[in-house]
Amino acid sequence: MATNRTFTMIKPDAFSAGNSGAILKMIEEAGFKIVAMKATQLTPAIAGKFYEVHSERPFYADLCAYMSSGPIIAAILEKDNAVEDFRKLIGATNPADAAEGTIRKIFAKSIEANAVHGSDSDENAAIEGAFYFSQIERVG
Ligand code: GDP
Repeated sequence: MATNRTFTMIKPDAFSAGNSGAILKMIEEAGFKIVAMKATQLTPAIAGKFYEVHSERPFYADLCAYMSSGPIIAAILEKDNAVEDFRKLIGATNPADAAEGTIRKIFAKSIEANAVHGSDSDENAAIEGAFYFSQIERVG
């Protein structure tokens, strides 16, 4: 059963390029409601914890360095079928493969600096949201 929440980050490349507002506008226009949001900067260790599932992959060290290289925005989003619909809105991991009109097609710079994160399952959406936000920091 699809839950109605997903988790996103606006990554350092998009934040530093001043694209956070445009990306949030696309997210809201696609019907997602923001139920928690904050700007923060990860340390390499915290980025490493968030992406621990990728620790065996060759790009893990680069990914942790990149994700801690500048500020990000973290947010929990609500919509029917949130996880699947958000993955459609952001497009493929590699912007070269992303569909026209998707956030990554428009804003991503590379397969690594790909503008946004979107949870890949309901289970991970809950884990990732809880990684950043306590109950009191989110709506409902
Ligand atoms: P996602 O679910 O679409 O974000 O993709 P993954 O879970 O497979 O990868 C997590 C993140 O690692 C991606 O969003 C990219 O920022 C980065 N990444 C994925 N594949 C590569 C790669 O081949 N090289 C590099 N440098 N980074 C990658």
